[in-house]
Amino acid sequence: MRIEVAQLEEIPKIVEESLEASSWDLDSFDIKFLGKINLHCEFQKLGEEIVVKTKVFAHQEVRCSRCLDVFHRDIKKEFFLSYSQKTLGKFLVVDEDIREEVLLSWPMKPLCKEDCKGLCPGCGRNLNYENCICSK
Ligand SMILES: [Zn+2]
Ligand SMILES: [Zn+2]
Repeated sequence: MRIEVAQLEEIPKIVEESLEASSWDLDSFDIKFLGKINLHCEFQKLGEEIVVKTKVFAHQEVRCSRCLDVFHRDIKKEFFLSYSQKTLGKFLVVDEDIREEVLLSWPMKPLCKEDCKGLCPGCGRNLNYENCICSK
């Protein structure tokens, strides 16, 4: 997403964009983005600053770090980016900063649910669905 700095005013300028998840190359072993990543940005000039209120909507396929089940979830994230006008050239390009913000926001070890029971280290059963058979 690229905006001409001179166009920005105190009245927020809204820009929406949908990206192919693959174009962002966010996929890790445990988290994969599916379909589109939708961005909604409000660019606002506030004195010397450009403030960008950003909303990200996306759909993910996630592998639980405890039971290794794959599940899907929708994610919504909202944050602000700010830039000093002095450091900007003619255009403001926010993609990389949004990408970084989104990447940094995931827990390192995703869980399918708060109290996931995980796999039994003995019999390998998923204890969310099955009973351990080690002692039988
Ligand atoms: Zn789990
Ligand atoms: Zn077991």
